[in-house]
Amino acid sequence: MDLFEHQAKELFARHGVPVPTGKVATTPEQARAAAEELGGRVVVKAQVKTGGRGKAGGVQVAEDAADAEEKARAILGMDIKGHTVHKVLVEQASDIAEEYYASYLLDRANRTFLAMVSREGGMDIEQVAATNPDALARVPIDPLTGVDLAKAHEIAVAAKLPERALDGAAELLAKLWDVFVKCDATLVEVNPLILTGDGRVVALDGKVTIDGNAMYRQPDLAAFEDSSAADPLEQRAKELDLNYVKLDNGSVGVIGNGAGLVMSTLDVVAYAGERYGGVKPANFLDIGGGASAEVMAAGLGVVMSDPSVLTIFVNVFGGITACDAVANGIVSAFHLLEERGERPSHPLVVRLDGNNADEGHRILDEANFGFIERVDRMDEAADRAAQLAAQEA
Ligand code: GDP
Ligand code: MN
Repeated sequence: MDLFEHQAKELFARHGVPVPTGKVATTPEQARAAAEELGGRVVVKAQVKTGGRGKAGGVQVAEDAADAEEKARAILGMDIKGHTVHKVLVEQASDIAEEYYASYLLDRANRTFLAMVSREGGMDIEQVAATNPDALARVPIDPLTGVDLAKAHEIAVAAKLPERALDGAAELLAKLWDVFVKCDATLVEVNPLILTGDGRVVALDGKVTIDGNAMYRQPDLAAFEDSSAADPLEQRAKELDLNYVKLDNGSVGVIGNGAGLVMSTLDVVAYAGERYGGVKPANFLDIGGGASAEVMAAGLGVVMSDPSVLTIFVNVFGGITACDAVANGIVSAFHLLEERGERPSHPLVVRLDGNNADEGHRILDEANFGFIERVDRMDEAADRAAQLAAQEA
């Protein structure tokens, strides 16, 4: 789960990381009131979960409250890389002497955590890494010892931060590590981390990604979840406890058992789809090993209600839950859906293989649903599903 800047800064503040004082506003009038309360110059910042807001005009300095209202009016409703701005953060303007970069992240390749700190902040850090790699210090962090003040100091020195910023930066980096660990984050990024004219080190921007699998033990962070921005189908799938991800520009609904199988199903559908003018998978949906009738029905219900889906490919490999059980699940699922008045309006391709496949095939054939086509090989089934989607388009 990615957080908005203002949420990231709220977490920073809770853990003692210095941030400018600010308030969130959803209307120009609120922005004016916030600026009046803060007093003096303020910065009005678009709250969208994407970078490069500054370049897009989503970060503007306002001289006074009236100006803040005007700037907020310009920024609210703005489209930044496909994200509509619904709220702004109004912050006390900072007196920036220098801009640095700091982040902690999970380094999967090296199976460790990593601190990345640079003296050259504010701009795209990817660009710094590409054009001036020496300017970016990468310091592995031992998860058992973490980052204490001494380690933080070492990181700041490795990043060649100037002498007068070292103490402030070290203090901030140690506290930022607390945020990273205590919030189960996989990323905390501060760009820019600034040195102010009066020598303080402050987090001027904040990007935080929370490990979704840790949400169960982060009840405080649940309030940060932004259900309004979520895809409504994904939202419904989540309520049904389904592992569902909506994909862009696809027309073949995909349902399978086991994440690995579903991932490869997406690949074979996309591959087959190239023969039919670029047909693509419409979603990822893993109904898990059990594949009970209820879960199958719930999954079919979600995928069927996606208006971009023109055909559904059910790809199941029978393992501990054998194919006959899965076939019974599919049959009961359609009976369940029928009772609810939800008839599939598009054809389905079902591939059942693995443990007890023959019995599974018999059950499906006997059920004799006109809208189901049984294809027993994965590649051929994917090809047929793509072909049907192209025909239905
Ligand atoms: P991003 O472009 O989405 O990363 O947004 P940032 O929060 O990083 O802001 C972009 C840039 O705006 C920063 O690098 C600063 O140069 C500038 N900026 C942000 N806040 C202030 C401020 O309080 N005062 C001044 N003078 N500039 C600011
Ligand atoms: Mn930034």
